[in-house]
Amino acid sequence: MAEIKFEKAAKLKAKPDVSKIGFGTHFTDYMFEMDYDKEHGWHDARIIPYHDITVSPANTTLHYGQAIFEGMKAFRQGDKVVMFRPMDHLRRLNNSCRILDIPPVDIDTVHEGLRKLITTEKAWVPAKKGQSLYIRPFIFATDPYLGVSVSSSYTLLIILSPVAAYYAHGFAPVKIMVEDTYVRAVRGGLGEAKTPANYAASLHAGLVAHQKGYDQTLWLDGVERKYIEEVGSMNILFKIKGEIVTPELDGSILNGITRRTVLAIAKEWGIPTSERRISIDEIREAYTDGDLEEVFGSGTAAVISPVGVLGYKGEDMVINDGKIGSFAQKMFEHITGLHSGELKDTQGFVEFVTEM
Ligand SMILES: *Cc1c(COP(=O)(O)O)cnc(C)c1O
Repeated sequence: MAEIKFEKAAKLKAKPDVSKIGFGTHFTDYMFEMDYDKEHGWHDARIIPYHDITVSPANTTLHYGQAIFEGMKAFRQGDKVVMFRPMDHLRRLNNSCRILDIPPVDIDTVHEGLRKLITTEKAWVPAKKGQSLYIRPFIFATDPYLGVSVSSSYTLLIILSPVAAYYAHGFAPVKIMVEDTYVRAVRGGLGEAKTPANYAASLHAGLVAHQKGYDQTLWLDGVERKYIEEVGSMNILFKIKGEIVTPELDGSILNGITRRTVLAIAKEWGIPTSERRISIDEIREAYTDGDLEEVFGSGTAAVISPVGVLGYKGEDMVINDGKIGSFAQKMFEHITGLHSGELKDTQGFVEFVTEM
């Protein structure tokens, strides 16, 4: 494992009142950086003061989008700081690298760098339940070259941002529009990678959904526009006749860590789960028959996001009378209880980082 250097900041920032700031607006004093070139491979792992970066106007990421990212969280548990499933996130980082032809990182070095960064910045990890320190690792191509090709140089950065509880006004259901005009990813494409391109492909449809009064879009498969995929930044799960059902990982959706956590906990509770193809027609039929008990999204930012309304072709399906379902509620409390340390972590999801 590579040695990790440290460069001290001349001056530290004033810490904001986390309950008053939005998502991703404030950043801590330090960041982690590592660079790649053909000669040295990934090298020069270091923790340095947070700063703006400069790139060539011909930077290949700006023009062709060869970049990937991750999103995970650190939490306070009394006088301890922990991270939730960091190794799973770093393994997924390398999977995204593979899909975009970015040279894989040495996970142990990045993991160690991340642990050192969090330890350095432990005073930035907010203490109240629901609050967290959001961790954003990302890699982007740095060749100053306008030709279309796989870059020969890259930078990995990890930046940290304190975030308020996602549900500042209480845990509440959202309105989701099933998107049948625009598509985001197709099998064989980039859907399984956490990459900016998937977000670029979703912005316009998100805006249109907003204008129609919905919070987010639910994507259907890009070929037949028939099978359920995922929400913009969340996986989607349904409770149909007592079973938790979610689309299988077929290459066009992200392998969400929260999705995995939900399935693992449901299994622990003895609740049947199934990962399979689900058509929007099946959902409509289950709704009409009164068998669609709950719909909810899963993702690191919100943890669980109950869906109160599912709009499709101009018609709204009101799920569970627009109220939070009991499974989604219980799962939200369970996972946030693992984050806060109120519940015992029986499956090894929580990694201790440092004492305060
Ligand atoms: C990050 C992300 C998710 C959620 O994944 P988690 O690992 O649960 O945070 C789902 N879909 C997309 C497209 C994402 O980028």
